[in-house]
Amino acid sequence: MVFVPSKESDTTKMARWEGEDTSFLDWYRNTVMSPKASLLPSLEEMFRFQKDKGSYQLELPASDRQKHLIFAIRPCDASAVAILDMTFKDGYEDPYYLSRRKNTLLVGLGCTNPYESCFCTSLGSNPFDSANVDIMLSDIGDEFLIEGVTEAGKELIARTGGLEEATEADDARAKEVREASYRKVNRRIDTKDIGEKLLACFENEDYWEKIAAKCISCGICTLLCPTCYCFDINDELVKQRGTRFRSWDSCAFPIYTKMPMENPREEKWHRVRQKVCHKYEFYPMNFGVIACTGCGRCIRLCPVNWDITQTIESVPAKA
Ligand code: SF4
Ligand code: SF4
Repeated sequence: MVFVPSKESDTTKMARWEGEDTSFLDWYRNTVMSPKASLLPSLEEMFRFQKDKGSYQLELPASDRQKHLIFAIRPCDASAVAILDMTFKDGYEDPYYLSRRKNTLLVGLGCTNPYESCFCTSLGSNPFDSANVDIMLSDIGDEFLIEGVTEAGKELIARTGGLEEATEADDARAKEVREASYRKVNRRIDTKDIGEKLLACFENEDYWEKIAAKCISCGICTLLCPTCYCFDINDELVKQRGTRFRSWDSCAFPIYTKMPMENPREEKWHRVRQKVCHKYEFYPMNFGVIACTGCGRCIRLCPVNWDITQTIESVPAKA
């Protein structure tokens, strides 16, 4: 099953390709919905159960053994998949995510027209970063330069007919295209010591209240973010039968984690602080990397123009 950038209703997302239409190559910059939905669906059945006298019979969903290929994923979103890989392998291994991921190949497409809101170069990546894909494509005009990155990617290229060896002129053209793209990413943040700075201002209520003032807790930034992975688990019951499913959740919502107790982050500034600190302080503490790729979706698509780069740039220096 191949996923390509697609228009659907009022949005764009990676959706199943029917094997004909390549018009997405004309309009695609990046999708509104991130490719995480192909690996972590917004709604997913975990298992069904039936009450049988005093016990329960469980029925697991048929495992998806199909091979998936996500075509034209941008380097920032491929870095996000690498972050999700760490998340879902750490301590507890998530079988739903991992079985899908194991069968998924990523074909990256270098980004020649980044948005003003993109800042991947501040986070150790760039518009042609091939570190997290299996195959990398560079649009060099009338042709694509194709590079196998992983063994699986090289194997697929070897099995693909109709390809021509790249010439020196093709390589030179690809270099020009890449360099021109790097120059287009002008938004920058300084992440040096950001974890320590956030730790030092964690209790600075005045600062976080100002930062959170215009947020309306809609959750869009987290639902569209390629690295956000929070989910909620619910049971749906009809008489003795039921289904357990999980669905995306957002730390921006006032009802997030409202379990037996109240949400421990009742104030909006607590929730905004959580979103920022999770990405730039807690995740790096646990995994050694910042859980933000600079894809810029949360800036482009926030209804009130809340901007994570302004927040990171305004964190007070350590006292
Ligand atoms: S998209 Fe904007 S308004 Fe909505 S929760 Fe995120 S920061 Fe707040
Ligand atoms: S926090 Fe914003 S810029 Fe960073 S990965 Fe998420 S959506 Fe992209």
